[in-house]
Amino acid sequence: MPRETHHDKAERAKKIIAGLRKTYPDAHCELNYSSPLELLIATILSAQFTDKRVNIVTAELFKKYRTAADFADAELAELEEAIKSTGFYRNKAKNIQACCRKLVELHGGEVPRTMEELIQLGGVGRKTANVVLGNAFNINVGVVVDTHVTRLGNRLGLVKGTNAEKIEQELVKLVPQEHWTMFSHWLIWHGRRRCDARKPDCAACEIKALCPRIGVQ
Ligand code: SF4
Repeated sequence: MPRETHHDKAERAKKIIAGLRKTYPDAHCELNYSSPLELLIATILSAQFTDKRVNIVTAELFKKYRTAADFADAELAELEEAIKSTGFYRNKAKNIQACCRKLVELHGGEVPRTMEELIQLGGVGRKTANVVLGNAFNINVGVVVDTHVTRLGNRLGLVKGTNAEKIEQELVKLVPQEHWTMFSHWLIWHGRRRCDARKPDCAACEIKALCPRIGVQ
């Protein structure tokens, strides 16, 4: 692919968005939740773990712990046991409890709606905050960058490298703000269904005409 100007790349990004939107009209967050609090907890649990398996754990967890106060006051050992199969469970239990204690102390148990407030909660980084803001509140303040977004962003020649913050900064310059939340979902869905880490199915790819396949053998 010849060297692209920023303008050309942004135009190509728009075409990629159109292609993915058409391919995945129902793309959405694949974590199950029925409230901002449940999404926050599910997202903390999803670190290094698949959404499908988080959903299995949270189906039981959310019956037992219904409010931020329930998590804040839980016996740590019991909470650890309830999320044990999600990996790194000790850290995750500690983070969930720290986060919920701050929710109770500072926000009356409600999940706040700004990036600044969310990242002040224990164990909540920019990625988790973006997931909650974009999906629970429909507020586009950034782009969620996970392993799929990193891999596809690079292969598509939209971003370079693996630093999540830099990737997010590059993507917000290319993707119109109204699409920031959905753009992550579209890339994640495409990454799971077509653009596999080891064996991308480029021959059948719906956006192959727009992809320079950077780093793909
Ligand atoms: S053409 Fe291949 S590398 Fe590019 S997005 Fe499609 S599957 Fe991924």
